[in-house]
Amino acid sequence: MALIASVIVDVSARAVDRAFDYLVPAELTGLQLGCAVIVDFGNRPVVGYVIGLAQRDPQELGFKLKPLAGVLSEPYFDEVGAQLAQWIAREYAAPLSECVRLLAPPGGSPKVKRVDGSWQLVRQGAGPVDDRWVFLERGQAAAAIPERAVKQRKVVEALSCGGMRLAELSLELSGAYQTCKALEKKGIVRIEERRRLRGAMPSAGAAPQPPVSHLTLGQQRALGQITTLLEERDCGSTATERVVVVDGITGSGKTEVYLQAIVACLAQGRSALVLVPEIALTPQTVGRFRARFGEQVAVLHSRLSAGERYDQWDLARQGSAQVVVGTRSAVFAPLSNLGLLVIDEEHENTYKQDSSPRYDARRVALQLCRMRGAVLVLGSATPSIQTLSRCAQRPGAPGWSWVSLGERPCGQPLPAVTVVDMAREFGSGQRSMFSRQLAEALLAAHAAQEKSVLLLNKRGFASFVLCRECGFVPECPECSVSLTYHEVGSSLACHHCGHREAMPAKCPQCGSPYLRKFGAGTQRVEDELRALMPPGTPIIRMDADTTAAKGAHEALLDQFASTPGAVLLGTQMIAKGLDFPDVTVVGVINADTVLKLPDFRSPERTYQLLEQVSGRAGRGEKPGRVFVQTYCPEHPAIQAAAAHDRQLLLERELPARRELGYPPFTRLGNILVWGRDEGPVSTLATRIALALSSALQGTAGRWKILGPAPCTLYRLKGDYRWHILLKAPPGEDLGSVIAPVLAKLGKHEGVKLAVDVDPSNLL
Ligand code: ADP
Ligand code: ZN
Ligand code: ZN
Repeated sequence: MALIASVIVDVSARAVDRAFDYLVPAELTGLQLGCAVIVDFGNRPVVGYVIGLAQRDPQELGFKLKPLAGVLSEPYFDEVGAQLAQWIAREYAAPLSECVRLLAPPGGSPKVKRVDGSWQLVRQGAGPVDDRWVFLERGQAAAAIPERAVKQRKVVEALSCGGMRLAELSLELSGAYQTCKALEKKGIVRIEERRRLRGAMPSAGAAPQPPVSHLTLGQQRALGQITTLLEERDCGSTATERVVVVDGITGSGKTEVYLQAIVACLAQGRSALVLVPEIALTPQTVGRFRARFGEQVAVLHSRLSAGERYDQWDLARQGSAQVVVGTRSAVFAPLSNLGLLVIDEEHENTYKQDSSPRYDARRVALQLCRMRGAVLVLGSATPSIQTLSRCAQRPGAPGWSWVSLGERPCGQPLPAVTVVDMAREFGSGQRSMFSRQLAEALLAAHAAQEKSVLLLNKRGFASFVLCRECGFVPECPECSVSLTYHEVGSSLACHHCGHREAMPAKCPQCGSPYLRKFGAGTQRVEDELRALMPPGTPIIRMDADTTAAKGAHEALLDQFASTPGAVLLGTQMIAKGLDFPDVTVVGVINADTVLKLPDFRSPERTYQLLEQVSGRAGRGEKPGRVFVQTYCPEHPAIQAAAAHDRQLLLERELPARRELGYPPFTRLGNILVWGRDEGPVSTLATRIALALSSALQGTAGRWKILGPAPCTLYRLKGDYRWHILLKAPPGEDLGSVIAPVLAKLGKHEGVKLAVDVDPSNLL
């Protein structure tokens, strides 16, 4: 008998996409499952990961196994991790090597180098970390700092719960270093160099923040439900699903529920994982976890440097951090003994990865929780239709429970929403992009030194140009989208590839001079807003242009926070995470642009966006008012947001989706094919569709194949794009139908291919 290791080599090619066996030489005593190893693969040294170890008789195999060349690391994952990677590969028809790499430390593909006769792992960029820490000097508080020094106050506030690493502080606050230096001069903070042994958690002297004293009834029920489930401990890939959906209106105290649930989980000696959609937009959230759990928290997201990320990851692996807060890929954090996994704002798109492996962190989380016997909490003010229907499907069944948090702890009501019919406004002679009602509210708020937030819904076909005589719309020569009009330099630009051209003086098709600009860019809205408001009104514009620089996002929000009577004008990025008590007016300039996108989720997304942005108003003492301008005032998505009643949306969406065969009534798989030349692209797409239909012959029409057809985004960055859409009954395994079909395709040079199971967009 001999010890044999199954190794996934770190080579992405469908042809080598399986485990290979290697003999483990007796001298490699440190080898364990999950280790990175070096193997001889096709006569070259290649990095691989051990996903299985077993004593076997090498004779039985019938051929001679090569020996494993060396062990490169400590184990990165355990048995469950190895199973999870294989599950993802199957589920999403993704290469195993890519799925196993999800479990390796962050920092990209590892390389190996021969040093003094042995192989060593080289990690790019994962060098030493920034070890400067900032501490508040004893007895110093924000009160000592002038009101105007907003940044300094923020730093002091952030430090009031304990010291922080400078690198971390800089992520939340641009220019934190200069601010800290200034505070150090005044003797308010001190900056210390702290040597850190790799993995050892330095003492930051964090004072834990106490929980709120009285939970609302909803909070109590949610917490009770979670802690009850925490007591049950069965695990395995077929264990029952233990899911609590916390369906709480904006500001209802969901985060407090997560925090207290984590306390209960830690008390059992188990660890907890919290996923958030985007760290950049939720610095406050991370701060709250830090404040409550201090050094037990590791934070994982892409804005950390490679070295920082490696260290945070390693803290979790070594067990020094029992709580991990992070974005999508943090679902793979190496926490042992996981008890609780929270997904905040579970409806967000960002949980679906849009490059291979195209996994959905929500599904991965559910599978992981089953394997580890952990509880999954899905929180949102606007849960996805998918999640809601999951709850409705099995009322009372073990597994999914749903708790509603219908009120805010301090009793502030949700703001009143007024729907403004823009067609009628136009009909009555109002030519501005601000309706009379919204204009009056903005002026009144400014006069009272209150703040307003204006949302310009930019996703979709906003600000394009149309010939009024022949209907011609200028399109990008490389991508099949209409060009966007930019006020600056009067140019037309493509949002996908960056193509730019001058705005033509007359229609290129018919020569008519009547080219009309539809929609509006933020710049143009800003100009019109300046004309509307009294001179000198502070207007802060937040869009892709003004937030491109690092830290610009935070700087603009700071400015908004510290300016009474200010108006914040922005794109989708302002819809969530903003928590300013003195915002009393929220205006949505164009609620319906997303509704026009040819995607079955458009109404759902429109509703979610409107409900989330409404939640920015009236968070303080004064009630908020919301104005939603639209050309489709009767649309259920708009009506539902106006009434804060999602039932109005579901009553129309569910039957429509059932009728058309969309989730939650089906599962979708989208196979994308693209390349420079359209011929080979359409040929390959046709071959795939044919192969799929013969593979699905036994399913008696319960599966459907749509296409092959050109995508809505038919051309992108010069490529032609085709797709095939598969519709399967819910719960079916799409990956294991698609993967064998693709494996048999053979070479297809010049044509690329992607499989997207449960796609989040179909464009
Ligand atoms: P959500 O996550 O649902 O948007 P938060 O957890 O951020 O809501 O809570 C909103 C605000 O209410 C926070 O400032 C929080 O500290 C406070 N809060 C939460 N629960 C309570 C409670 N039971 N009593 C008083 N204040 C609370
Ligand atoms: Zn024309
Ligand atoms: Zn383009």
